[in-house]
Amino acid sequence: MSILKRFIRYYKPYRGLFYADMVCALTVSCIDLAFPQILKTLTGGLFTRGAEEILHTLGLVALGLVVMYAVRYGCQYFITSWGHVMGARMESDMRQDLFDHYQRLSFSYYDRNNTGEMMSKLVSDLFDISELAHHGPENIFISLLKICGAFVLLAFINLNMTLILLAVTACMVVFCFLQNRKMQRVFMDNRKKIAGVNSRVQDSLSGIRVVKSFANEELEQEKFYESNIKFLDSKVASYKMMGAFHAGNAFFQGLLYTTVLVSGGFFIAQGTLRAEDLALYALYIGIFINPIDVLINSTEMLQKGYSGFKRFIEVIDTEPEVEDRPGAEELRDVRGDISYEDVSFRYDSDEAVLDHVDIDIQAGRTVALVGPSGGGKTTLCSLLPRFYDVKSGAVRIDGKDVRDVTLKSLRSTIGIVQQDVYMFGGTIRDNIAYGKPGATDEEIIAAAKNANIHDFIQSLELGYDTPVGERGTRLSGGQKQRIAIARVFLKNPRILILDEATSALDNESERHIQASLERLSKDRTTIVIAHRLSTIRNADEIIVIDQSGIKERGTHDALLAQDGLYAKYYNMQFEGLED
Ligand code: ADP
Ligand code: MG
Repeated sequence: MSILKRFIRYYKPYRGLFYADMVCALTVSCIDLAFPQILKTLTGGLFTRGAEEILHTLGLVALGLVVMYAVRYGCQYFITSWGHVMGARMESDMRQDLFDHYQRLSFSYYDRNNTGEMMSKLVSDLFDISELAHHGPENIFISLLKICGAFVLLAFINLNMTLILLAVTACMVVFCFLQNRKMQRVFMDNRKKIAGVNSRVQDSLSGIRVVKSFANEELEQEKFYESNIKFLDSKVASYKMMGAFHAGNAFFQGLLYTTVLVSGGFFIAQGTLRAEDLALYALYIGIFINPIDVLINSTEMLQKGYSGFKRFIEVIDTEPEVEDRPGAEELRDVRGDISYEDVSFRYDSDEAVLDHVDIDIQAGRTVALVGPSGGGKTTLCSLLPRFYDVKSGAVRIDGKDVRDVTLKSLRSTIGIVQQDVYMFGGTIRDNIAYGKPGATDEEIIAAAKNANIHDFIQSLELGYDTPVGERGTRLSGGQKQRIAIARVFLKNPRILILDEATSALDNESERHIQASLERLSKDRTTIVIAHRLSTIRNADEIIVIDQSGIKERGTHDALLAQDGLYAKYYNMQFEGLED
């Protein structure tokens, strides 16, 4: 019921259109119901008179009928065109709502869900909805009107016979209802399976370079085949269901005709029905069988639309785990002091990634995190911009708990450069400007110069207007990284996180980038995670973290003197290199 209410809410902006559509639908059904009545009146009245009088009035009758059907034409046109437009608009509203909601959802949602499936919800699940939105109410309205109208008119001819017909029709409705519930399950399954196909395609195509490098095309084909076949099976099941449904209905229609004939014969024999009226009966049955058909077909549409809408609602009802608190303040005039106070954190599993961690970083200083892969360095950094929330303890910037400030203001004070650089489709200019939408050309060029990439961009034929290719495939790793750095220069945040920003690069590119990273971290509070320890020698403090927590902290020289874990790492990396 609440699902229906929420569906109806989408009609609200188009109320005018909806009512107009219904008025047209009403007109169309009245006109359809009127014809047998007109026929009856004519055969009973005018057509029994003299030939001259008939011919005299016939022109008038024709004119009246043509006008009537012209009105019907207008209404039908409105229903088909503007009714569909209304449905499409509602569908597009829903799609926008869903997309907006996807933008609100937190990292944890994306950890759990698959992009292909989400796309499927956004695109194909909502397809049937526009059909439902428009045809649903109108079909139900027209059909019910025609069926009720036909029954009332039939009751005037012979009440008993109409009651018998009503009983058969009731059986038919019960059959439809039962069959429908089964179909609903199958259609929901259909959607899940097509989402599976989508997610396979998405996964395989975005990893196509890995697929090819391993020559694993066949493996991918097999995996795709599997989900494709699952979808096929699900479709076969739904077609079998549809077959039983439609054939069952056709059978009931046959029963209706049989009932009319047999009960008609019975009542004629009894003398309660005239033979001419039986013919009229058959004519009316034709009028209400068609809407029953329509009604039945629209239940199928209803099922499809409903299961799509339900999946849509499931996403819309997912609350983002990280959101602004009511009354959250803007984080303004940030100095850049950072403190982690007794912070514990784990992901969905029970295993703690961070356990009672304390770290203080004074504004403008650089702290380096060092430790084995999987030790929780990236996780520690993710807590600062609230990609995830701490399970206990608090992360503060300038003494303010990050959970008490707005996400927008928080995230705009933090710049992140990671190992993986995501490039959006578009030009180099677009990708740099992502750090500050609406940036001027001068600002973009200044940022590119700071990131040591300006000269390279200038050397390209199209310069800043060079397309980067999907995910930046046309650029080298170092070039992408420098564009990412330019982005952050443009953003100009008070706080900077460098998470293995140079790890994926060769020594040559690393040296290039190191200079611009140093320029970037000047006068900003910086947390740097680096693989190569040479890059963090100058940090104000180095913190060594492993799975069990903070192991050592101090300056480079102090830690080397301590001859502990850090010294071990350091010597391991530089063994044989420094002499
Ligand atoms: P590091 O950056 O030090 O290499 P991470 O912070 O990335 O380590 O990971 C710390 C631990 O948390 C690892 O055991 C990793 O498997 C786990 N982990 C990282 N990200 C997620 C995630 N999104 N969901 C669940 N577990 C995660
Ligand atoms: Mg990491």
